[in-house]
Amino acid sequence: MKIVWEPSVYIGNAPTFCTICAQRSYPIRSRRNQLLLAILYDQHGVMHGEVCRDCVAAGSDGITARLQERIHSLQAKVAELQTLARESIETPTLEEEFGIHQRDVS
Ligand SMILES: [Zn+2]
Repeated sequence: MKIVWEPSVYIGNAPTFCTICAQRSYPIRSRRNQLLLAILYDQHGVMHGEVCRDCVAAGSDGITARLQERIHSLQAKVAELQTLARESIETPTLEEEFGIHQRDVS
């Protein structure tokens, strides 16, 4: 993969989410007062999104470690959701829902 600083295509200082660690990422302002974002491209030149400053600063070894960490946490989340998907599902009855809405009003 390759990470390059490019002028932001967004308006203003709105945050994006880091492709590597999923944290909020803000553009940096260049000396020429231009907002820049670090963009991640794969080896085929396909863009995969923005990268936060912490990940850029982590360097290639740090990025590899951060990717592994994220993969493990996503796999744990997938396993949790698969376990839940195998269980039978019980939703609140209409009476329970109605009781809650009545209490909201008072
Ligand atoms: Zn990041």
